Amino acid sequence: MNYWYVSQAAEILIDMDKPGSSLPHSESRLRGAISGGLLSVKQVEVHRSFTAEHLHLMVTLDHGLSPLERAVWALLMHSDIYRACNTLMRVEYDVKCPDLLITPVPFERKQDAVCFCVDKHDGKTMQECPAATVLREDERTRSFFGRPDYNPNRRVFPDDGQLAIFDTNVVFQGQRFS
Ligand SMILES: [Zn+2]
Repeated sequence: MNYWYVSQAAEILIDMDKPGSSLPHSESRLRGAISGGLLSVKQVEVHRSFTAEHLHLMVTLDHGLSPLERAVWALLMHSDIYRACNTLMRVEYDVKCPDLLITPVPFERKQDAVCFCVDKHDGKTMQECPAATVLREDERTRSFFGRPDYNPNRRVFPDDGQLAIFDTNVVFQGQRFS
C-alpha cells in the first residue's frame, strides 16, 4: 500500500536520496533554524522510502508557512532537487496539491489518500492512479521540464573547470535545440 501525504501549512515534506551526507546537513539546518527563531518545530518523523537507503521526513511545525516557503525549506534540507523544482512550478501554476509525498510507511497523522499501485508513480502510473486522480485531477501528469538528454556524444560543456563562454546559437545548433 502507498500512503499519500499532501503538505499542510505546518508541514515540511522531505524526500532524501543521500542520507549519508544529507541527514547531518538537514539536521544542522534545522537546529540553526530553531535557534535562530525561524522555525518552531514540534516533531520530526523519519522513515525509509521505497528505495533502500532513501528517507522520507515529515517536519511538523507549530506555525504555518506558505507553499513556497515549505518548498524552499525542503530544498534547503536536501530534499530531492527535481521534486522541489516540480513543487515550485506547481505552486506557481496553481496545480492542486503542489507538494505531496507518496510513502510506504504511514506517518503519525492520517494520510490524505492511499493507493495500491505497484509501479513507481511516473507519468503512466499517475495517469491511472486513483489517488492521483482525486488529488491532482486533470493536472496529475503535467510536466514542466522535459526529458533530460544524457547523450555523451552531445556534451559540449567542459568538465575540467576551464572557463568557457558559449554562443548557444552556434553550440547547440543541430544539437539539443534543433
Ligand atoms: Zn498510485
